[in-house]
Amino acid sequence: MRVDAPARWSSRARQLRGHCVTEVGTHGKHLLVATSCDLTVHCHAMIYGSWQFGAPGMTLRKPQRQVRLRLRTVEREAVFFNGPVMELLTPEELAAHGRLTRLGPDVMSDTFDGNEAWCRLFLDAQRETGDAVLDQRIVAGIGNIYKSESLFLTGILPTRMVSSLGRQQVDRLWNMARHLMWRDARRSGPIVTLDDPLRRDGDRHWVYRRRGRPCFRCGTRIEMVRQGELRRATYFCPTCQV
Ligand SMILES: [Zn+2]
Repeated sequence: MRVDAPARWSSRARQLRGHCVTEVGTHGKHLLVATSCDLTVHCHAMIYGSWQFGAPGMTLRKPQRQVRLRLRTVEREAVFFNGPVMELLTPEELAAHGRLTRLGPDVMSDTFDGNEAWCRLFLDAQRETGDAVLDQRIVAGIGNIYKSESLFLTGILPTRMVSSLGRQQVDRLWNMARHLMWRDARRSGPIVTLDDPLRRDGDRHWVYRRRGRPCFRCGTRIEMVRQGELRRATYFCPTCQV
């Protein structure tokens, strides 16, 4: 493997040369690339980073100055643009990594643990559901679009307190998020949550970014509320969601 890495990795990055990638995994929105020299590349794109994959020497779709990391093997190349989190971890650092160890169960994982997610959710039950769903310490992986869409499709009003939710309702919410995310993961292109027959005029979502427009199910105008410390936007139908 050949590595073009940030200057701060200099001595560690040299250890990667000539080694191979042994496993690529995710936990929530974190990407972990394990290598044969026991170092693990950890990246998180937040909301502005992105990856490009292809054959070695591929034409980059963004300017060189936006390249943060470039991993090249004999057959494949992976380029990370603009990502704010990018580090090279020893096994000990990986095991003790604050952010990763605090993450809740990965909603897309085959071994997703609904009991653990339920317990983590109810550690702070006096909280709005739309805020809690985005908290990666409760369940890892759900982003802002899937949050609004999953809440709409399970009929849960985002401003409801967590304490008012039942276990079956919460399980349906995680299952819906997993279903939408895996469906998108199996096809290329942008996130699409809306069923195909309803997709007219470029619509891709049931409620996300549709404030003031009619609900596809009942015609009520879609509303938006800002939630949590970061004031993230949540879109919802005040009739379909209770
Ligand atoms: Zn509606």
